[in-house]
Amino acid sequence: MSRYHCSNHQEEDISYYCKSHDDLCCIKCYLFYHKHCSNTVHIESQEKETLDRNSRHLLDDLKRIEEYLSQYIEKNRRNLERLKKNIQNVLIYITQVKERVLELIDNLMGYVQQQTKRIYDDEFAKKSEDNDDCHSLLAEAQTSIQRLDSVIQKESKTQKFLTEYQEQRRMFTIRDQVSSKYGKIESKSIKFTMCDNLESLLSLRVFELSTVEPEDKIEPMQGFHRTPDE
Ligand SMILES: [Zn+2]
Ligand SMILES: [Zn+2]
Repeated sequence: MSRYHCSNHQEEDISYYCKSHDDLCCIKCYLFYHKHCSNTVHIESQEKETLDRNSRHLLDDLKRIEEYLSQYIEKNRRNLERLKKNIQNVLIYITQVKERVLELIDNLMGYVQQQTKRIYDDEFAKKSEDNDDCHSLLAEAQTSIQRLDSVIQKESKTQKFLTEYQEQRRMFTIRDQVSSKYGKIESKSIKFTMCDNLESLLSLRVFELSTVEPEDKIEPMQGFHRTPDE
């Protein structure tokens, strides 16, 4: 019993092929179903060369698929590797920016500390001097108060008049000096920007992650000897 027996007639070998129905069949089937089909082949009447050529072409096509798939797998591997490397590069870049930003903020903090210290030191010196002036004016005022207090107890009109005259002069001087201090408190400020240097570092970035080198592009398969339509 042949391995290639007809599926409809166990006793018959396959001897025909109807291309229109894509049917491998025996003589009975042929006569019954495919006799009038336009594209039938009697297998044993085929030239040996034709069969060999068809087999070689099929072999070619299969080898082509084999090679395509091997390349496809290798290209996929390389593209994935490149993606991984590109992702690492983005992370490295961000780390570098982070370090640069921290450095810039450190510099800014140093600058602000230095400037504010200078302002404080200047102000401290000025206020100390100012307070010294106020202390001596205060002492003068207190001395006048004591003199006037003691002179009020005394009887002598001349004494009272002269003392009052002197202390009035003294009071005008003190008052002028006190008045001259009024409005001398200046406001202090410091200006700086967080962005000047950071702006360029923090602006929008675009990184291509899945870059594909020309040799790793995956093209559709083509150039087969036979297609299903033939
Ligand atoms: Zn049959
Ligand atoms: Zn047919």
